[in-house]
Amino acid sequence: MYRLFFFVLLWLSTSQAGAQKPNQVRVQWLGHAAFQITSPGGTVLLLDPFLSQNPNTPDSLNNPGHYRPAAILVTHSHADHLGDALTIAKNTGVKIISPRMTAVYGRQTLADSLQLIFNVGGTVTVGDVRISAVPAMHSSDFGGRPIGFVLAFTNGETIYHTGDTWIFGDMALIQEFYRPTIILLNVGGGAFSQDAQTARTAVRRYFHPRVVIPMHFGPTPYHLATEAEVRAVFAGDKRLRVLHPGESAWFGHE
Ligand SMILES: [Zn+2]
Repeated sequence: MYRLFFFVLLWLSTSQAGAQKPNQVRVQWLGHAAFQITSPGGTVLLLDPFLSQNPNTPDSLNNPGHYRPAAILVTHSHADHLGDALTIAKNTGVKIISPRMTAVYGRQTLADSLQLIFNVGGTVTVGDVRISAVPAMHSSDFGGRPIGFVLAFTNGETIYHTGDTWIFGDMALIQEFYRPTIILLNVGGGAFSQDAQTARTAVRRYFHPRVVIPMHFGPTPYHLATEAEVRAVFAGDKRLRVLHPGESAWFGHE
């Protein structure tokens, strides 16, 4: 009887939402372009942490005070990407990895100790993750330039977070140099960025991922594509993996 109780406890502790799995990369979508990614070695990275003001982020995940990442990665300075990055950096003492534009945003300043200035072609290692900056065809007001991130993991998975880019020819070089296995793909369209049709064309023309996770869509104030519209554009593409805000997926060989 006691042995059964022990095994039930063990099962509960290993099956709970959020548990890390051996040699896996955990990708948790926080809504819009925000992700929390945990490496096989337990390195937690927070990308484009638009949380407290993000209507897509579940209440349980929208408090910036709850995050303790190893680094904060920001693709560009727009409010729906920079989000709570400065607050989390100041709370935790963790660095923002980004082009310099995050140093001045909304008249906030950021101490040099809280930023790692990053630019296209650069690579840094945080814990067991190699992080590289690639171009993005967009803008980054208040200075600087927009980028995308490529994250290379020890289990062989490589994630490409596109930022807010439009399709561009040098995506062929991103494929040649980094060969992403998972793409976090901006698909929402609207006034600011590429729509799902263009995003699908970018994947078909330039990449060979195993998984495509759409982002930057859904019910925000920005009039972006709905989940149904995104699914319709990618109909028949088995690589599409739609997460719901707060949901996690794990990638890698067990
Ligand atoms: Zn955006």
